[in-house]
Amino acid sequence: MATATLSIDLTALTDNWRRLNAMCGALAGAVVKADAYGLGLKQVADALATAGARVFFVAAAEEGAALRKILGPGPVINVFSGHMAGDTDLIGQAQLTPMLNSIDQMSRHMETLPGHGFGIQLDTGMNRLGMEAAEWQALRDLALAQKPALIMSHLACADEPDAPMNARQLQTFREMTAGVTAPRSLAATGGTLLGPDYHFDMVRPGIGVYGGLPFVDAKPVVTLDVPVIQIRDVAPGETVGYGNTWTARSPSRIATISAGYADGIIRAMGPRAALYTESSAVPVVGRISMDLIGVDVTGLAEEPESLQLLGRHQSVDTLAEFAGTIGYEILTSLGARYRRVYC
Ligand SMILES: *Cc1c(COP(=O)(O)O)cnc(C)c1O
Repeated sequence: MATATLSIDLTALTDNWRRLNAMCGALAGAVVKADAYGLGLKQVADALATAGARVFFVAAAEEGAALRKILGPGPVINVFSGHMAGDTDLIGQAQLTPMLNSIDQMSRHMETLPGHGFGIQLDTGMNRLGMEAAEWQALRDLALAQKPALIMSHLACADEPDAPMNARQLQTFREMTAGVTAPRSLAATGGTLLGPDYHFDMVRPGIGVYGGLPFVDAKPVVTLDVPVIQIRDVAPGETVGYGNTWTARSPSRIATISAGYADGIIRAMGPRAALYTESSAVPVVGRISMDLIGVDVTGLAEEPESLQLLGRHQSVDTLAEFAGTIGYEILTSLGARYRRVYC
């Protein structure tokens, strides 16, 4: 079989959530947008619900409707994008809680689903989603009278503990929510790690649950093993791959493995990424193709049947650094072709 195997350790994943949950006084939510950061909404949400998660966050109403089918009635499903035109039926039928981002969304919600639960998203400086101070000022009394389920905002620089932006946003969030009795939420993974000042009534970790930075102590969740299709000898002067970017300097053994940039293995990581056996590292040679990667296995005593790209030797964040990106992008780019194994 030429299909690479992506193993997802649900025990490590739920353990990460439990540890983030234990850092704060109240029950943590869990962010499962984008197919649970590419790891599989059904398996991840079931595991988190079994571990005790009761409040889930998704980006869009469609994701929320899919999640409701998985979880059944009971758990709270909050939608970051709020109540968009066209979302009303989904929000109503799937019992989703939109985080309303504007006066427009508030009006739409009140008119189309009166009495249906909602939350409020406030902009405290990131300028991405949420009501700004003036908008909130105008709406505050009306909104609070309807008893919002959550009032939330999002930090722009929480992965940099020393960034002055964190304290500024915290201060703004406190000012905008002074006197409010509704539950409040400011922190994602980074904010959870900033300490109790940032926790309020609920934290919303995503990446830390999936084993990524800034949760330094996270247990790794994903392993990617890629089968070797073919191994060949190349003589000095011969080249490997598109564009002849690698030339053998000495007699070499080259393994061709069965995964490529169509599977989320970003071409830019090629020059720095390695593949691993149990005990050895072997370098990528030549350009990463759509479905194939060349690996110099000259140094190995035995011919490998597969090589590991992600796992205990090389983390999601290490690969991200090699590709000039972040762990979030590596995870959410993981390909649809992998055989996914949950353990
Ligand atoms: C994605 C997201 C989260 C989770 O962020 P992580 O950094 O992955 O923990 C929390 N809140 C909002 C608004 C988000 O968009």
